[in-house]
Amino acid sequence: MTTAPPLIEDGCIRAINPRTLEVLDSFPMAPVDSLPAVVGRCREAQALWAALPVKQRASVLKGVLSRTVERADMLADVVRRDHGKSTAEAYFSEVLGVAEVLRTHLKYDRRWLKSSRVSLDPLSYPGKSARVEWRPRGLVGVITPWNYPLALPMRTIVPALVAGNGVLFKPSEHSLLCGREIAGLFEGLVPDGLLQLLVGDGALGAALASSAQVDAIVFTGSVATGRRVAAAAAQNLVPVSLELGGKDAAIVCADADLDRAASGIVWGAFHNSGQNCAAIERLYVEDVVYDEFLDKLVAETRALRTEGDPHLCEVGPLCNQSQFDLVNRHLEDALARGGRVLCGGSSGGAGWGIEPTILVDVPDDSLIWNQETFGPLLPVARIHSVYEAVEACNASPFGLSASVWGRDCGRAEAVARSCEVGMSMVNNHSFMGSVPNSPWVGTGDSGYGVTGSELAMKFLARPQLVVVDKSKVKDIWWYPLNETALAMARTVVQTLVAPLGRRLSLTLRLLGLLAKRWG
Ligand code: NAD
Repeated sequence: MTTAPPLIEDGCIRAINPRTLEVLDSFPMAPVDSLPAVVGRCREAQALWAALPVKQRASVLKGVLSRTVERADMLADVVRRDHGKSTAEAYFSEVLGVAEVLRTHLKYDRRWLKSSRVSLDPLSYPGKSARVEWRPRGLVGVITPWNYPLALPMRTIVPALVAGNGVLFKPSEHSLLCGREIAGLFEGLVPDGLLQLLVGDGALGAALASSAQVDAIVFTGSVATGRRVAAAAAQNLVPVSLELGGKDAAIVCADADLDRAASGIVWGAFHNSGQNCAAIERLYVEDVVYDEFLDKLVAETRALRTEGDPHLCEVGPLCNQSQFDLVNRHLEDALARGGRVLCGGSSGGAGWGIEPTILVDVPDDSLIWNQETFGPLLPVARIHSVYEAVEACNASPFGLSASVWGRDCGRAEAVARSCEVGMSMVNNHSFMGSVPNSPWVGTGDSGYGVTGSELAMKFLARPQLVVVDKSKVKDIWWYPLNETALAMARTVVQTLVAPLGRRLSLTLRLLGLLAKRWG
C-alpha cells in the first residue's frame, strides 16, 4: 500500500481520499487566536437573525432543501472522495439524511418552539398568568467527527439555526471537503457570518470548548475528547450536549428468523465500514441456533463487495490512517489471544480498506470486546440464555443501543428493555439515526446528549418563563406577616385536601381574611 502524506503540514490540513490516498485539497488552518474575531462576527449576525420570527427563520430551510436536491449527485461524490464510502452508501446515509433533517425541521420546528402556558390555580394565584417561551441560546459551538460528515453535523446545525442561534461549526480535520459543502448549502440564504466554518484540529476544538463566548456546545466524538470538552466548558458554565462512542450488542434468540437476522446484523455491523457509533460490535447468539446462524452470517459477510465500482461497493475503506491503525490493532490483539477468523481478516480493497471480518473464540478481556473498534470487525459469542447476553451487554460502560432478534416480539422487547442503553431495538439496528424527529440518545460512557426530536431542540433553545400579574389586590405572602396572614396561610393549606363543601366554606373564609387584611 502506498503511504499517504501527513494530514497536517505547514499550517494546512490535507483532504485525503481514503481509497486512493491522493491529496484532494488543502485547507489553511484557522489560528486559535482568530477565534474572538470569528465569534464577534457570528454574534453580530445572530442578533439580526434572532429578531426574525421562527416562521421566517424556518422558511430558509426550503432553499437549503432545494439546494441539497439540486446538488445531490455532487454531494454524494464529495462524500465518496472525502470519506471513502461508495456513492450509493453516501446517498442513503448522507444525502437522504440531510434531506430528511431539513424536511423534518420544516414540518416541526414551529411546533417545537411554541410557547406553552403554565397552569396556575386562580385561588392561590389570582390575576396571574405564566408561559414558557423558547429563546435562542446565542452562539452554539458544533464540534463533529468524520464518520457521517454531512448528515451528522446537519442534525444539529439546522435546529440550532432555526432556534435563532449563530453556529460555530468545527468539522473533523478528516472531513473538511464535506464541512465546506455544508457551509455552501446555507451561503446567501442566512445572514453573512451566522454559520462560521472553523478549519482546524483538536487544538481549535479545545479553544472553542473553553471559550467563554459560546453559549452552548454540541459535541459528537470519542469518550476521551468528550470528557475534555465537558471539563473545559464547565469552567464557564457553558451547557454541553455529549454524543459519544458505543459498543453495541446484538442478541440473537433461538426463535429468530435467522435469514432476516443475518442480513440485518451484517448491515448493522458493516455499513459505513463499521464506522458508526451504533455499529454492532458484539454479537451474542443462543446455543441452539449458533452453528446454523453463524453459517448464514459468514455467507452474507463473504458476499459483501469491498472492491470494484467505487460507486456501488458495499464496504469501503476506513476513513483515515489512525482509524485503520486502531482497527488493525484490535484485530491483531484478538488473534494473538487465540481468536479465530471465520471470514475476512486482512486488508480489503484499496487504500485504508480492511475486509469485513467475523471472529470467534476471542477471550472476554480482548480489546475487541471492551473498547470501541469503529471498524468492520465482529466478534461472536455462543450464549446459553438471553439473560447471559443481557448481563454481558450491561457489563460495558457504553450504552448507546442494543438489538434483540426474535420472532416472539413481546419476549424480545422485554429482553431489549433490560439492556441498559439509550435505544433498545427489536429485529433491527441503528436505523433510527436517520429519523430526525426521533431522539438519538445514549447513557453511560455513550454520553448524555440527545440529537433529533423536540428534546434536542430544547437544548438548543433556552426556556424563558414570562409571568404577567393583572391582579388588583396584593399577594397574601407579601409583608406584613401578622395573625391574619398566618390564618390565610393555614386556610390555604386546609383547602388542599378538603372535600368540595368544606373547600367552598374555606374559600369564603379566605375571601373574608383577604378583605380584612388588605381592606
Ligand atoms: P474525536 O473525539 O477524535 O474528534 C471529534 C471532534 O473533536 C473533531 O472535530 C476533533 O477535531 C475535535 N477535538 C479533538 N480534540 C478536541 C478537544 N480537546 N476539544 C474539543 N474538540 C476536540 O472523535 P472522532 O475520531 O472524530 O470520531 C469518532 C468518535 O465519534 C467515535 O467514538 C464515535 O463513536 C463517536 N460518534 C458518536 C456519535 C453519537 O451520536 N453518539 C456519532 C458519531 C460518532
